[in-house]
Amino acid sequence: KVHVDKVNKSYGSNHVLRDISLDINENEVVVMIGPSGSGKSTFLRMLNQLETPDNGTIVVDGYDLSDKGTDINKVRENIGMVFQGFNLFNNYTVLENIMLAPVELGKMDKEKAEKKARELLETVGLAEKADVSVNSLSGGQKQRIAIARALAMEPDIMLFDEPTSALDPEMVGDVLDVMKNLAESGMTMIIVTHEMGFAKQVADRVVFFESGKIQESGVPEQVFNAPKNERLQEFLSKVM
Ligand code: ATP
Ligand code: MG
Repeated sequence: KVHVDKVNKSYGSNHVLRDISLDINENEVVVMIGPSGSGKSTFLRMLNQLETPDNGTIVVDGYDLSDKGTDINKVRENIGMVFQGFNLFNNYTVLENIMLAPVELGKMDKEKAEKKARELLETVGLAEKADVSVNSLSGGQKQRIAIARALAMEPDIMLFDEPTSALDPEMVGDVLDVMKNLAESGMTMIIVTHEMGFAKQVADRVVFFESGKIQESGVPEQVFNAPKNERLQEFLSKVM
């Protein structure tokens, strides 16, 4: 589903990603952890070409991103992304926010998009908020709407970049629950998070980034309970 082979990325003299190779299978949930500046966001952003690698290969859903003939918009339609900030349209209603992309991009007519949006609101536990303005929502509610909006395009893969980092602590659980349900439904997910409890519970695989390299990866039990890499041991001693 996602194939990354020997990818490098530098910003000037800052070598941010160093020979990163990673394969992610259909239905797999991969959690990426690592210190600030280790390249986690840059890696995620490369998967939908918000950043381009200096070299190496990235294939998503069979589309080779380095191939000039690849229609990147087609690729992006299949990749949902949720960030720390919600990037919702504040002056629109919740329903309008969720319906916008599928209607504008011609994926669904309005009727179908609205039906889908209402189903998704049910899924994220906010059915009663359909007609309110996004302005009136809490951070946790906004993030659940942002997830619903990404899902409205019926993506094959969902990327999450610290989706709960900007939230008040009491809001975090609701958002993680939505993500957990999504994982259980079989969605392919790549998640950057500092929520180690969530990672332990939900991840099929945990990948530790440090200094632009994947220093260790494995099932949660191995990465959290028996880390081999010294830097991973040090990182875990700080965050657990
Ligand atoms: P955090 O946990 O703080 O979000 P991260 O692991 O996501 O960190 P990245 O955001 O990928 O780290 O950044 C990796 C490195 O690349 C950092 O040194 C950062 O300063 C640099 N960097 C990221 N984006 C850019 C950019 N657009 N231009 C220049 N440097 C950048
Ligand atoms: Mg980041």
